[in-house]
Amino acid sequence: MGETPGVVLAVYAHPDDADVACGGSLARWAKAGGAVHLVVCTDGGKGTFDPGVVPERLAVERAGELQASSALIGLASVDNLGFPDGELSDSDGFRCTLVERVRTLRPEVVCGHDPTAVFFGQDYFNHRDHRIAGAALLDAVAPAAALPHYFPEAGPPHQVSTVLLSGTLEPDEWVDVSDTIETKVAAVECHRTQFAGQDGWAGEAVRSRAAEEGRRAGVAYAEGFRRLALGG
Ligand SMILES: [Zn+2]
Repeated sequence: MGETPGVVLAVYAHPDDADVACGGSLARWAKAGGAVHLVVCTDGGKGTFDPGVVPERLAVERAGELQASSALIGLASVDNLGFPDGELSDSDGFRCTLVERVRTLRPEVVCGHDPTAVFFGQDYFNHRDHRIAGAALLDAVAPAAALPHYFPEAGPPHQVSTVLLSGTLEPDEWVDVSDTIETKVAAVECHRTQFAGQDGWAGEAVRSRAAEEGRRAGVAYAEGFRRLALGG
């Protein structure tokens, strides 16, 4: 996928998710003049193994990390809905909020979690918030945002053209992020509460994953997505 969308909306569950999932693509589009907006659904307050950490304080720290990474990526806006980490539910209220964001920002391209991806190999399965955010986003984009009788209070209808789902087991579209891989690395490294520890580990993991996708796409570094073309 080589073209630059004019307006992009990325919707992810936790403060670090967008950078990990598609930070290189978001940075590429922003750099090329696209207006790239991010909605983060939860505050990330439970993202720690340390029982001594206070979730409300972690949430504040992670908001600061998100602000720093968003500046590196070049986001036009970042909005945290502030749901408690791990407690997302696929409610009418949540979907109405997402419909309202879609109808206000009027993106051509929407990025989010693939809710059908559950098991990644034998040692990881997808976070509940990722599955719920992905499913709610799909339902919000189509048919809800496009049809006037869904959530009429949430603004005038808008048809999204393309949905790109990351964290997918069935990628069929790749974005070349060779020019923005180091921006992605720096953005991911902003999330110190999540990727502290061995120096440079996160950066190496990001580069090696993007190189693997790049081999599938025939470029140095890429990010893979499942692409849905909507609205005829
Ligand atoms: Zn997450």
